[in-house]
Amino acid sequence: MKIICIGRNYSEHAKEMGAEVPKEPVFFMKPDTALLKEKDFYYPTFTNDLHYECELVVKISKVGKCIDQEFASKYYHQIGLGIDFTARDLQSECKKNGLPWEKAKSFDNSAAISEKWLDIASLNQSINFEFFQNGVLKQKSNSNEMLFNIDQVIAHVSKYITLKIGDLIFTGTPSGVGPVAIGDILSGNIEGEKMFEFIVR
Ligand code: MG
Repeated sequence: MKIICIGRNYSEHAKEMGAEVPKEPVFFMKPDTALLKEKDFYYPTFTNDLHYECELVVKISKVGKCIDQEFASKYYHQIGLGIDFTARDLQSECKKNGLPWEKAKSFDNSAAISEKWLDIASLNQSINFEFFQNGVLKQKSNSNEMLFNIDQVIAHVSKYITLKIGDLIFTGTPSGVGPVAIGDILSGNIEGEKMFEFIVR
């Protein structure tokens, strides 16, 4: 199982990061060891600026390579919500030096995902989601704000990488990212339905 993450997929987030809006989907990967398997997330010792990035997550349900955008919707049926935990200080340093981001993005437990998955067919075409830090709304968006929609992302990524059953795609975060502190309760919902609650230890 692999985790593919889309970067800068919402223009307001690209702006808040001081980055240009991309002309094609930007992606990177997290290994399977990045998957958070518990409710508790332990603040890593190697960062002093850990950020949350709440994202819609798509689960791949069929093997595919070079998937045509027109048929991409046949390759996923469920959507969840997750946090792409990011060591922003390490990422800034990597970016400044023109280096890959892996240590800032792909560390153990950096991919927190809801246990619950929703059937795409049961949702509207455009999916609302929200993220709360200690009960305070921090991120709120809708899938139609994505620069590249799920089908476009699948078509693009599968040009380079074969998608397999169970692979996860983090579809990018909207604006409003920010730092996490020990003791925080991080929760998120899709269409008002609570999807996850993680506690930072
Ligand atoms: Mg992200």
